[in-house]
Amino acid sequence: MTEKADIVVIGAGPGGYAAAFRAADLGRAVTLIDPRATLGGVCLNEGCIPSKALLHAAETIRGAAHMNDWGIGFSKPRIDIDALREKKDGIVGQLTGGLSQLAKKRKVTVIQGTASFAGKTSLSIENGKGSKEISFDQAIIACGSDPIELPGWPDDDKRIMNSQGALDLAFIPKRLTIVGGGIIGLEMATVYSALGSTVTIVELADQIAPGADAEAAKILHAAMLEHGCTIHTKTRVESVDASGTVIKLVVSGDHAVTIEADAVIQAVGRKANGHRVAAEKAGIEIAKDGTIAADAACRTSVPNIFAVGDVTGAPMLAHRATHQGKVAAEAACGHSAAFDTPLIPSVAYTDPELAWVGLTVEKAKADKIAHKVTKFPWAASGRNLASGERPGITKLVYEPESQRLIGAAIIGPHAGELLAELTLAIEMGATLEDLALTVHAHPTLSETPALAAELALGICTDL
Ligand code: NAD
Repeated sequence: MTEKADIVVIGAGPGGYAAAFRAADLGRAVTLIDPRATLGGVCLNEGCIPSKALLHAAETIRGAAHMNDWGIGFSKPRIDIDALREKKDGIVGQLTGGLSQLAKKRKVTVIQGTASFAGKTSLSIENGKGSKEISFDQAIIACGSDPIELPGWPDDDKRIMNSQGALDLAFIPKRLTIVGGGIIGLEMATVYSALGSTVTIVELADQIAPGADAEAAKILHAAMLEHGCTIHTKTRVESVDASGTVIKLVVSGDHAVTIEADAVIQAVGRKANGHRVAAEKAGIEIAKDGTIAADAACRTSVPNIFAVGDVTGAPMLAHRATHQGKVAAEAACGHSAAFDTPLIPSVAYTDPELAWVGLTVEKAKADKIAHKVTKFPWAASGRNLASGERPGITKLVYEPESQRLIGAAIIGPHAGELLAELTLAIEMGATLEDLALTVHAHPTLSETPALAAELALGICTDL
């Protein structure tokens, strides 16, 4: 028999659970479907949160080593990988458990299973034991994305991993090669190099973190070298041989060598999961790259079906998905809602952190957008000097006439936290003067955006 639902949400990641909870808060009866036993999707279960737990461990290991220069010596860290894994899993469990409570509180019906559309108002759910049909009034697709797998690679799950396998922390390889120097590759390099692996990064583009401010990426590149990583940019993997005890990667380009590794992480991007839900049976077109198009209200070409998050394309970031999820829920409930900002902050939680939002200098130049740049070097920040003198810059891109901020990039510890002020500043149309005249607490790293603005205005007394 076909069950009847009011609004169904497919996928319980940050986009899906935000949509489900918001719709429930607006008085709707919500059914949330996900194949995982726990809510939270990739972000909570095998992405953002577990990686941040491991990055915290890496930061602590490096922080302790830095104190040598301060006359405080610690002995070499003893790493109990089982205990570390348990700690990470505990944090994930705490958060996913919390989500279950929030779903219960809102009376959201959670179904574990894989949903696929049968039509515009019906879908079936499989869970390994059987399947059932559900008819619905409205649906929100939030089925996310999966790691891209390079074609022709050998099947060796234990030693050739994607981000999920890397975060499982099964073992600490002596020599680790990471293919892809984007956000995941860099974060995994930050973790595993601190845990003792000798890390080699192979990146196709001419810089790590392509798309980020080039000068900031260069500073991160230098820091990664200091962490003991080897980085090959403009380099492509031609073949991988995992038949022996050592994995051999033949690479071409600027570094045409054979790399020997005990484990490899593939981190070459993610692909949208549009094909996973048979959306075409509901009359929705799925692009070749797996994405589903949605308008500003997150509505697909089929009016009662919405799509949010990674399945709608780049940037595939949890915070974008969350915002879209709320918009879709509100629009589905008849409210006037739109996701209409191009401002999606990006943060690589590396050591140091790299964060950027809005226009980069490179993009402004490429698109011939009139712009000026100002930057404050962290070498002149008292707080930075007092905290270990890490490399860093705060860089602002602004319109020459109006002096309105249009982009920002920060490299340095806590850059991800510092970026929030600049994201808000751009959203609010703030000018350099607004930033400079806002009193920032001293001594903080948060002064650096204001100091960068002061430099452009010619009123800086700190340099
Ligand atoms: P990415 O797109 O950020 O980086 C992939 C990198 O792989 C790019 O630098 C690309 O040039 C390179 N590449 C592609 N093909 C290659 C090849 N054949 N050989 C060598 N290099 C190759 O993707 P990702 O790092 O896998 O992350 C996936 C998604 O998840 C991204 O959208 C990312 O923003 C998101 N994510 C975000 C965070 C965060 O917000 N901190 C963390 C993890 C992942």
